[in-house]
Amino acid sequence: MTDESAPTAAAERERGAHPSADPAPHRVVIIGGGFGGLFAARALRHAPVQVTLVDRAAHHLFQPLLYQMATGILSEGQIAAPLRSVLKRHRNVNVELAEVVDIDVASRNVIARRVGGAELRLPYDDLIVAVGMQQSYFGHDEYAEFAPGMKTLADALNIRRRVYSAFEMAGTAATPTEQRRWLTFALVGAGPTGVELAGQLRELASKSLHDEFRHLDPDSARVLLFDGGPEPLAAFGPKLSKKAAAVLERQGVELHMHSRVTAVDRDGLVVRDASGTETRYHAGTVLWTAGVAAPPIADKIAAATSAKQDKLGRVEVTANLTIPDHPEISVIGDVMSLDNLPGVAEVAMQGGLYTGRRIRYELTGHGAKGPFRYRDLGSAAYISRGQAVISVSRLRFAGFAGWLSWLFIHIAFLTGYRNRAGAVMTWALAFTRDTRRERAFMVTTINTGQDVFVAPPASDSAEQERPSGGS
Ligand SMILES: Cc1cc2nc3c(=O)[nH]c(=O)nc-3n(C[C@H](O)[C@H](O)[C@H](O)COP(=O)(O)OP(=O)(O)OC[C@H]3O[C@@H](n4cnc5c(N)ncnc54)[C@H](O)[C@@H]3O)c2cc1C
Repeated sequence: MTDESAPTAAAERERGAHPSADPAPHRVVIIGGGFGGLFAARALRHAPVQVTLVDRAAHHLFQPLLYQMATGILSEGQIAAPLRSVLKRHRNVNVELAEVVDIDVASRNVIARRVGGAELRLPYDDLIVAVGMQQSYFGHDEYAEFAPGMKTLADALNIRRRVYSAFEMAGTAATPTEQRRWLTFALVGAGPTGVELAGQLRELASKSLHDEFRHLDPDSARVLLFDGGPEPLAAFGPKLSKKAAAVLERQGVELHMHSRVTAVDRDGLVVRDASGTETRYHAGTVLWTAGVAAPPIADKIAAATSAKQDKLGRVEVTANLTIPDHPEISVIGDVMSLDNLPGVAEVAMQGGLYTGRRIRYELTGHGAKGPFRYRDLGSAAYISRGQAVISVSRLRFAGFAGWLSWLFIHIAFLTGYRNRAGAVMTWALAFTRDTRRERAFMVTTINTGQDVFVAPPASDSAEQERPSGGS
């Protein structure tokens, strides 16, 4: 008797899936569904492989727009697309929600932790590591409690809560001193994220909130931007840095360059300037956008494979993005160290595409061969409405033309049509009417840092082994 509902091998092949009759499908495990992992999965769509994409989050996050979500322009859904939905037409890709904690190189297994703590093992023939980077506090992790970074959806929601509740606290402050403190926002790090956040904070204080309070002038909010270097946006070169500094100052951002933070606490922060003088700034909100470091899983993978790591902990790879002596393990995106390539989305996307195509070539003779070559398409940073800086090869420009280019790039790259359309409509309102509609926040904490599900009974959590691809 045949089961009509069971797909035939031919139908499965047509859909791009590996035939279930094949006793040993080639298993590819991708750790991380960010730009690198997602583009690798997409490039493997027509390859004879079964892909398991494992991520500790259920969504692909468009990090370049986190600051717009944190400051109330975009919603969570507009910058975070469910990985399952993004990959639903990729029939050979299975998505798993779990945090990878180690790899077993000898048995070729990825060891992950499900929500609640149970172990999950994912066997691989090829492994693609695309775990991105995490915030670094330069050896002062104790600052994190008082100065959140901005890397994840949770970080941006936390910042939104802190920013808008600071204005609320200022509105009911018992003394002018307390009000002053709540209306002081300190940002550490004048790279693109710090600059974007500083510009947004001044814009929401001077425009979006300006007629919403009866006993408070939100426009009096101070935004202080600290950095150890000489200028903001140093990576864009001195000309664009100067322009960015001028725009920020016009907006009312107070620039403190050549300044190093020496303490962060509940009351604000202490900063040492170029002359060596230390000053305490009383700030109700301190945000940290200063540094990055490789996540702990990068150390585990390096230890398991004897791979070298650079000073940020990124894993050094060969010209085809694999770990020396481990042609079955590729490292791509921000956590990859190769030729000083920067931690930007384009490097991750191109690395993901290349790796997917290289694996396909090795299995079928079609795809990419030869070493990885990065094509630099330039970079952009938003300063304020109508002002952005763009650097493409030798071409560098700023102002309104820069802002239009920024808008075009971000619309083009937003993942998923609905998000794109939604973002365009939201931007139209935000840019023409100063509206920020995504301002919902809570002043109570929801079990921060705890798994939603408790660990299952011991009998259910016995070590699991199942085929990659979940067929
Ligand atoms: C605030 C901000 C603004 C930015 N702005 C720009 C910009 O304007 N232009 C630009 O080009 N770049 C920008 N970037 C950088 C860009 O976002 C990164 O270069 C890009 O996201 C790197 O892609 P990736 O795949 O390497 O890592 P990510 O996109 O960070 O993805 C890593 C994925 O791995 C998952 N993961 C991590 N550890 C584990 C684990 N142990 N187990 C399972 N899953 C794990 C994470 O949940 C995540 O989904 C910005 C970054 C930030 C934070």
